[in-house]
Amino acid sequence: MIITINGIPCECEKGEFLLQIARRNGIEIPTLCHHDAFAGQGACRLCIVEVVTRGRGRIVVSCVYPVADECEVYTDNERVRRQRGMILRLLEARAPESREIRDLCEKYKAPKFDRFIRVDGSKCVMCGLCVKACAELSVGAISTVNRGVSKEIATPYHEPSSVCVGCGSCAHVCPTGAIEITETPDTRTIWGKTFRLVRCTGCGAVIGTEEEVAYAARRAGTEPDGLCNTCRKKRIADVFAHSVGV
Ligand code: SF4
Repeated sequence: MIITINGIPCECEKGEFLLQIARRNGIEIPTLCHHDAFAGQGACRLCIVEVVTRGRGRIVVSCVYPVADECEVYTDNERVRRQRGMILRLLEARAPESREIRDLCEKYKAPKFDRFIRVDGSKCVMCGLCVKACAELSVGAISTVNRGVSKEIATPYHEPSSVCVGCGSCAHVCPTGAIEITETPDTRTIWGKTFRLVRCTGCGAVIGTEEEVAYAARRAGTEPDGLCNTCRKKRIADVFAHSVGV
């Protein structure tokens, strides 16, 4: 099937999500809550586009909009720009300390609206990617708590979590830099808990926290070998070469 995006013909399968099709064809659509590792969730709504089918246009959230019919898609027309600008200002009101959101407001020339009340000094836009990343690891150390304007992501009772392994995946996927993670040469601190870092016995690079390394080995049903991926591959190659007498 062929659809057009900003007038460019794009080949796609029925059921494919618009964001996916646009990105495959090098057409930019801004996102915050989307990460290629996870399914789209339509939480931040920044990826809105206009879809015109049989002459009727409507605004849809492209990361969760599966293409059903031939259509024309516009990612940057007047209607999209106006609504995207409003969404950006709402996100800014929610997370005024986020440099990433401020940069997006500037990049997409989001108009100022006086009526938006700033919620607090947070950088979080509640996209939920951090919770997904942690759940994907089967750790589940953080979740959404409270409702309305006091809704936030936190560890249970805001206490250092007993199950968090300090891997930092949540901070890594966060699009607005809202999760604080600090490292010294020997420690990593995240969600109010400080972890000791483990270094590779081969090259000295940081492998992860003690808890993370032990957790990964437990899941793989092995014992930690103290090596980073690169040194482990090298060791396997050396053992193989030795066994075949190279
Ligand atoms: S650092 Fe802790 S909360 Fe964040 S993804 Fe890893 S286990 Fe989960």
